[in-house]
Amino acid sequence: MKEHNMCLTVLGARGSLPVSDTKRSRFGGATSCYMVQAGSETIFLDGGTGLVSAPARFEKTPVILLSHLHLDHVIGLGMYPRLSQDGTITRLLFRADTEDEMRALLQQLFSPPFWPIPLTEYKGTLLLEPLKPTLRIGDVTVESIEGRHPGGCLVFRLKYGDKRLVYATDCEPDDPFFSKLISFCDGADLLLYDGQFTEKDSITKKGFGHSTAEKGVELMERCGAKRLLLIHHDPQASDEELLRRERRFNSERIRYAREGEEIEI
Ligand SMILES: [Zn+2]
Ligand SMILES: [Zn+2]
Repeated sequence: MKEHNMCLTVLGARGSLPVSDTKRSRFGGATSCYMVQAGSETIFLDGGTGLVSAPARFEKTPVILLSHLHLDHVIGLGMYPRLSQDGTITRLLFRADTEDEMRALLQQLFSPPFWPIPLTEYKGTLLLEPLKPTLRIGDVTVESIEGRHPGGCLVFRLKYGDKRLVYATDCEPDDPFFSKLISFCDGADLLLYDGQFTEKDSITKKGFGHSTAEKGVELMERCGAKRLLLIHHDPQASDEELLRRERRFNSERIRYAREGEEIEI
């Protein structure tokens, strides 16, 4: 990796629910989790089941940013490999007013009878930090805006040197949100965008809080992003279907994310 480049590893790009079968192996079945490496920093975007494949050792304390707390974005936290290693630290940030509020929210899911032990009682330490609209992680600046999703969801922009990555998962492209998103994504090198729905879904599933590949392409064109990576794949969509959708755009700049792939930014 060149100096001042970021590298994105797709650990999970499936939306809503994990899937596992041979018809969905090419794009993968693990849910939302992306590992961004920038210099010596490691930042995970969401903690879906993809987080289970994360490495356990890092040069510097890794950071997990959660866009929101829907199950498909957090369920991997319970099996995050670093948490079972004594003496390790990971920072976990999501939107809340206080650390106590964060702990209480996590405990609703990660405690009996739903899960054997709370996340804060593992061998490795999770440092809980309420997420502010702007924060610095080493030389990386992270900014966020409110998305458009039931219960809320944050859109993140990561800046490192002159590189920009935007992570816009789980968002319905209504206005004024979509107009705000266009300026937020201005000149992004890589745009990760919720392409779960087909055009038909976007009509029949209005209010569900998801978007289409077509809206992603519109966003890319209007904000001048260099590349578009469509994410949060419909759990029902087979490899064949996703390849068919991808081929329609006939562009190397527009792709559906494949689990395990690494993208240099
Ligand atoms: Zn989701
Ligand atoms: Zn969601």
